[in-house]
Amino acid sequence: MSDTIFGKITRGEIPTEFLYEDDQCVVIRDINPQAPTHVLIIPRKPIPRLVDAAPEDQVLLGHLLVVAGNVAEKLGVGDAFRLIINNGEGGGQTVFHLHLHILAGRDMTEGQLATGLN
Ligand code: 5GP
Repeated sequence: MSDTIFGKITRGEIPTEFLYEDDQCVVIRDINPQAPTHVLIIPRKPIPRLVDAAPEDQVLLGHLLVVAGNVAEKLGVGDAFRLIINNGEGGGQTVFHLHLHILAGRDMTEGQLATGLN
């Protein structure tokens, strides 16, 4: 499996501030934010795309959702955020190491499908 920038970040090979980390995932700020709050929840396990997740990843995927909610609360946006997973090039994915985006701090009600991501 090919490595990505997120593999290097989760392994600590590229110095990056972790807003949160545990044994399964890290949370970082997006380098090119599409909203005032834009953070990424990245599992340490390098699953390339959501469709590549296996039944054994079920607990991990649930954990990522719980972390997303907790981090949103911690960042003060728990009442108004959008959680996004881009899957595949056609879905706007550019880094092939599964990650969740939290976007918040701008109007999320205008155009329900408009994410501002790619
Ligand atoms: P995707 O398009 O794959 O869903 O999202 C990849 C995201 O990763 C993009 O929003 C991009 O700005 C962000 N990104 C790419 N490289 C880096 C990096 O080296 N550091 C950080 N913090 N974010 C990155």
